Amino acid sequence: MESEERIRPSKLDFFIGQEELRANLKVYLQSAKEREQALDHILFYGNPGLGKTTLAQIMASELGVNIVTTTGPVLEKAGDLAAILTSLNKHDILFIDEIHRMPVNVEEFLYSAMEDFYLDIVTGQGPGAKTIRIGLEAFTLVGATTKLGLLSSPLRDRFGIVARLEFYTAEELAQIVERSAHIYSIAIESSACLEIGKRSRGTPRIANRLLRRVRDFATIASSNTITHEITEQALSSMDIDIHGLDALDRKILTTLVRLYDGGPIGLKTLAIACSEDIRAIEDIHEPYLIQSGYIKRTPRGRMATEKAFACVSGIS
Ligand code: ADP
Repeated sequence: MESEERIRPSKLDFFIGQEELRANLKVYLQSAKEREQALDHILFYGNPGLGKTTLAQIMASELGVNIVTTTGPVLEKAGDLAAILTSLNKHDILFIDEIHRMPVNVEEFLYSAMEDFYLDIVTGQGPGAKTIRIGLEAFTLVGATTKLGLLSSPLRDRFGIVARLEFYTAEELAQIVERSAHIYSIAIESSACLEIGKRSRGTPRIANRLLRRVRDFATIASSNTITHEITEQALSSMDIDIHGLDALDRKILTTLVRLYDGGPIGLKTLAIACSEDIRAIEDIHEPYLIQSGYIKRTPRGRMATEKAFACVSGIS
């Protein structure tokens, strides 16, 4: 199986899209290099698969420093974090994915490390307890989250740079597919790249995944090149429609329109009516349906838009 790592861009110049963010990051990188200081702490937020981890790795590679990667839920005790922080070299990057899921006691421990590069470790208990201060090398924390709202404000405020990753356009995704196909040595028509781009829900990870699946269909069809026709057939076999909506997206929309007359209904009710996990809907499906104008979030709940009604009327 082809690994995802092979197609992960390693330099900012190979990272496609997110123009404004990329231009800003270039400035921050250059400035940190010239000042010979650690890059400011950065928080990336946005949907899964938009490139947060990739950007963290690019930052490290552009700065020529090491990156240590962990995730919020893995850091159960303050000691877990202390072990990582004390192992960092000067200007290294610590990447914490799903940082909103870090336990509160660990988070609080991180504050002094982020602000002044030290840790206060308490040893012993009661009156005999002692605090030992441990100095750290100047490092950069790169945090990633899909849920900015779940981050406490003291933590959020300690990031010098807070950047949002947007959904990608079909053309940008087509470029990503073209680049990945080139790395995998897959021949593909440009119109096929664009077709995959249009149906990838604005998300590079999905575009790359679809490329690999479409390639399977091309192999079975004994075609050396992924044509537009094979791509269309493969995508419809995978139940991805011309708008890029998958079976669950369509179920969400038909439920909202046909069962609840377009809403408003709460997310929990919607999830139960679709027999789906609430997190899958909230984290993956709803953001894309909102962004593409099918669903509106109102104070009274989720509502279908005219576009959703039109889409559902075409579903049998
Ligand atoms: P996240 O951390 O936001 O969930 P990742 O950084 O893991 O997302 O990205 C998912 C995949 O998509 C990566 O393997 C990478 O190859 C690809 N990718 C993401 N953003 C881009 C981009 N801007 N250009 C090219 N490939 C990208």
